[in-house]
Amino acid sequence: MRVYNFSAGPAQLPLEVLERAQAELTDWQGSGMSVMEVSHRGKPFVACAAHAEAQLRTLLGIPDNYKVLFLQGGATAQFSVVPMNLTQPGDTAAYINTGQWSAKAIKAAIAQGLDVQVVADEKASSYTTVPEPGSFQVPAGAAYLHYTPNETIGGVEFGYVPDAAGLPLVADMSSTILSRPIDVSRYGIIYAGAQKNMGPSGLCVVIVRDDLLGKARSTTPGIFDYAAMAAADSMLNTPPTFAIYLLGLILDSLVAGGGLEAMAKRNQAKAAALYAAIDASDFYANPVAPNARSWMNVPFTLANPGLDADFIAQAAEAGLTNLKGHRSVGGMRASIYNAMPMEGVQALIDFMAEFEASAA
Ligand SMILES: *Cc1c(COP(=O)(O)O)cnc(C)c1O
Repeated sequence: MRVYNFSAGPAQLPLEVLERAQAELTDWQGSGMSVMEVSHRGKPFVACAAHAEAQLRTLLGIPDNYKVLFLQGGATAQFSVVPMNLTQPGDTAAYINTGQWSAKAIKAAIAQGLDVQVVADEKASSYTTVPEPGSFQVPAGAAYLHYTPNETIGGVEFGYVPDAAGLPLVADMSSTILSRPIDVSRYGIIYAGAQKNMGPSGLCVVIVRDDLLGKARSTTPGIFDYAAMAAADSMLNTPPTFAIYLLGLILDSLVAGGGLEAMAKRNQAKAAALYAAIDASDFYANPVAPNARSWMNVPFTLANPGLDADFIAQAAEAGLTNLKGHRSVGGMRASIYNAMPMEGVQALIDFMAEFEASAA
């Protein structure tokens, strides 16, 4: 039996993709092998990776002057790899702090010797808000402006693209990429671990504007050097072949489903239904400012935290799993990425109403 899996990551994958992978698993494209067992340098796999890149370019409308890289080390590696590629020690970089993932990126940049200027910090609201557009100034001479469009733990999302005042804008899109259309040309670098909204763990997609290539520190290892990886089609070392293959299948299913406009409509409807249910009840609450509420990660608390364990256990019995909130936050968190259908969100809403009634 398949459950509705509300995990923040690794997250639920589309069933039709898993079934296709299953059907192809032992004999991929008539090779008599699985995709995991073929050479990454052979024609079939090179074509498979090129297909995934082409589908990603189509879906996101990635302009020709951007490279798409398939890297490893997750988004976490990029917290250090971005500074390695765009700066020298002592350079200034600007960061917006909207929560725990921003904070980790800032810490890693400081460890790379950067003078990090935090131009906006939402601490005063306990990280339940995003800065107002135009409310912060980016220092001239900074190497880039970094932000986290969707804070996966806090459930806080930007409803706009920050103005980087002409600097390269760098975005950790791990938990929001492919949830809606974006204008890639607004960004210098977009990076995203795949395991939230794009595939299994082990793959990090980096989209980088080509004028930002070739500036890496001389000490940067080749596998972390965007220019070197771009020149080698992301194959300086053995890439995560199965993850790239699965990414391609997921992108195929997104294209077939009407692309990112259609996905955005579904995601917005899912989030609106869940927030409406939370807001209509005194039993459940979401702390995030309405204009900063995430479409992807919906944290909520019970008025009586003593019932949390019962809620989680009974939800799991009803086939609704991984609703426990992040260990640092408590309460619940429903991650409703692309692969979560409206039926799953509705099942959660129905369960929440039943639980509330039974606890009264
Ligand atoms: C999950 C997540 C990360 C960390 O991803 P890893 O692949 O584990 O390194 C970083 N940033 C955001 C916004 C995330 O959601």
